[in-house]
Amino acid sequence: MRRKYVAGNWKMNLNLAEARELIEGIRSKFPSAPPVDLAVFPPYVLLFPMAKALAGSTIKLGGQNCYFELKGAFTGEISPLMLKDTGCQAVIMGHSERRHGFGEPGELLKKKVHAALGDGLEVIYCIGETLEEREAGQTEAVLARQIREVLGPDVVLDNITLAYEPVWAIGTGRTATSAQAQEAHAFVRQEIEKRYNGSSAQTVRIQYGGSVKADNARELMSQPDVDGVLVGGASLKADEFVGIINGAVVASGLK
Ligand code: PEP
Repeated sequence: MRRKYVAGNWKMNLNLAEARELIEGIRSKFPSAPPVDLAVFPPYVLLFPMAKALAGSTIKLGGQNCYFELKGAFTGEISPLMLKDTGCQAVIMGHSERRHGFGEPGELLKKKVHAALGDGLEVIYCIGETLEEREAGQTEAVLARQIREVLGPDVVLDNITLAYEPVWAIGTGRTATSAQAQEAHAFVRQEIEKRYNGSSAQTVRIQYGGSVKADNARELMSQPDVDGVLVGGASLKADEFVGIINGAVVASGLK
């Protein structure tokens, strides 16, 4: 059985005091580790203090991005090893805000995913179609291309989680229905089977992301191919994030 995985992408939000309060609020609700995987992805400048705030907990720490070079004259960038040095285990790649807001193409993402995996980070690789692409009936073609551009026989899947994040659902309050999410996730799993094999397809976890909240998390994660969620806005409030984690526990059939 694939263990559910709930991750919070804080984006460019929270100051140090707010971040500490958020971690404290989450940890206080789970004196013992819940039976799902958890991770938070704070802004870079909060990574060191959050590593400290998370000491002794099973909540993983991750970066929201990183570059593919090890070091050098790359002003404003950060390397996978620098993330590891702060205590990170994971990194998000291919988020729609990187693809569409900062123009990151598949070719660059492939290099970045390679570098991050090579330096021992786990990767959440995000894929998803825009509203125009969905309305033009191109959802599957877009997902297949984004998978093909980065994943293949030269990339070991073991440390990769995929996140299906329809761009039209991110930060808009408009969540995909559980049926839409399931349909896309089943397609993604099928594509993984084509590029790898049946057992990889059954093992790889696929998160859903896009306006997930405490009140829709359980239903989304009850779909057979939805193995967790990547959460933006609702990961900034302890009560909401805790509600989502509880939704994951219930959807796993563990409560
Ligand atoms: C995200 O940032 O990956 C995301 C899904 O954001 P939100 O939950 O706010 O839609």
